[in-house]
Amino acid sequence: MFTDSHAHITKEFYDDIESVIKNAKDNNVNRIIIDADSISSCYEVIEISSKYDNVYCCLGVHPENVDEDLSELDRIVEANKDNPKFIAIGEIGLDYYWTKETKEKQHEMLRHQMELAKKYKRPVIIHSREATKDTIDILKEYPEVIGYIHCFSGSLETAEIYLKLGYYIGVGGVLTFKNANIKDVIVKLPLDRLLLETDSPFLAPTPKRGETNEPANIPLIANFLANLKGISIEEVSKQTENNINKLFNIGDINE
Ligand SMILES: [Zn+2]
Repeated sequence: MFTDSHAHITKEFYDDIESVIKNAKDNNVNRIIIDADSISSCYEVIEISSKYDNVYCCLGVHPENVDEDLSELDRIVEANKDNPKFIAIGEIGLDYYWTKETKEKQHEMLRHQMELAKKYKRPVIIHSREATKDTIDILKEYPEVIGYIHCFSGSLETAEIYLKLGYYIGVGGVLTFKNANIKDVIVKLPLDRLLLETDSPFLAPTPKRGETNEPANIPLIANFLANLKGISIEEVSKQTENNINKLFNIGDINE
């Protein structure tokens, strides 16, 4: 059994959400954690997660959406504080690749949402693109908050800093790409700190590269990781499921 720990399963990307979720189940991907990236998608992920037993949601505003009103996010999070399906604050972070000119505003937004994570005792899902140093500096301001670094693509040194801060590392389809340098880093990281994610609809793994990604593709990434580390896919499944249960405080831990 597997969990897709990061996917954008919303109407913006899929016409038939029901069949995406069913297809995941048919491929042994029993749980899906879906992320918001804007205020409107927060409402949508709450609704979808309430409809399906095996779908959980994260609430937050992505750094590309700097014009969003975070006081509305505050109200949504407060209203859902006892919702067992709301398991994290995300997707939040810093992105200097697309929107360097809004740096200051992004820092303010990230801090605002780290405060929410602290207040409501939820982990965070972090997006960091070309912004490693500033991301680390801000995460360090919140030692009581942990989470995971989604689609990690940095160096071994950077990964070790995140691990030391208590964060997990997200492994996605990029790992399966032919010339991905990230393989050399991931192979050296401990399995008990890795999570599997698709980032659907983006970054479909080989041999589906270029297609619309789906949570059903998680076993392709798991299999690649198992081969890379020279272990069985069952071991990857067992350990990454435990990691999910522990980080998000859901399900049972079988140790
Ligand atoms: Zn994402």
